[in-house]
Amino acid sequence: MRMDGLSLMLEQSDKFFSTLSSLPLPCLLQMIHRFGLLMVFLPGISLQKLCGIKLARISNPTKFWAPLVWHKAAIPRHAITSWLFILNRNPTLDRLSTWGFDVELDCLLCGLAHETRNHLFFTCAFSAEVWKLITQRLQISSSPLLWDQILLWLPTTSVSKHKKLALLQGWQGAIYELWKERNRRFHDGLSLSPITVTRLIISTMENKCNAMIQLGLKRGSSILKCWIT
Ligand SMILES: [Zn+2]
Repeated sequence: MRMDGLSLMLEQSDKFFSTLSSLPLPCLLQMIHRFGLLMVFLPGISLQKLCGIKLARISNPTKFWAPLVWHKAAIPRHAITSWLFILNRNPTLDRLSTWGFDVELDCLLCGLAHETRNHLFFTCAFSAEVWKLITQRLQISSSPLLWDQILLWLPTTSVSKHKKLALLQGWQGAIYELWKERNRRFHDGLSLSPITVTRLIISTMENKCNAMIQLGLKRGSSILKCWIT
């Protein structure tokens, strides 16, 4: 299916939304992953509207982390990636090794430890630098580096509701871009600096906020102020 075809269907047909809702979850997630960027900018199509029922079912409303992933300012591809890492389902090197693949376990970002989810986010020196730059940008201090601690810290941080959304955006954006950077090194042998990765994250958030503003969502400007001040 071509992107312009999907766009036309989404814009013109509530029936298509109903069809999407009836898809098996793996197909739905695959479509969100492939067309996530497109959906962000489509009027009237939100992540919650598109897949709220299914995601609530699979994430289990009692899971405390669900609001951290499926929030009002989420970028679908970032939400999906962070959700899969919460479930620890992405193919980090330690997991590949347990599946029987003969791989070097050294972290591709720092080379100083074995690659695991918890190392990548954010005890790795490279990742920690990106996470520090993101939280500094949002003028938030004392952010933890350990995966489990961050999951407990995010919901309890004493900041305004819009800064909370910006923080969740930044956390998910860091996970997405750091995993992308890891894959860039793994597959292409290319690398970016922590500052460049951070700039990509902030630029993406600014674009997301501007898209929300264009859709008439007031929170877009409030969250944008968190990123540009
Ligand atoms: Zn590392």
